Amino acid sequence: MTAITKRQRRAEVDRAVCVACGCCLKVCPLSAIEVYRGVYARVDQRRCVGCGMCAGECPAGVISVWEVQA
Ligand code: SF4
Ligand code: SF4
Repeated sequence: MTAITKRQRRAEVDRAVCVACGCCLKVCPLSAIEVYRGVYARVDQRRCVGCGMCAGECPAGVISVWEVQA
């Protein structure tokens, strides 16, 4: 029997190059992003649904949306 796996998408920020501008968190419909200690953005993986809106807004292009297996 073949196992059924559910695929989902999640956003991820490259913290090393994030400039903490906050543009991403303004557009997230699920409030899944915060700017941690004013240094870099981070995504709450439990809330993110991988819509990609944040990635489209990031002026530095440091957000990637990946497909993950649930
Ligand atoms: S991919 Fe969508 S839900 Fe996830 S952090 Fe970005 S805007 Fe929010
Ligand atoms: S929009 Fe991009 S550069 Fe700005 S805080 Fe979000 S991830 Fe960092």
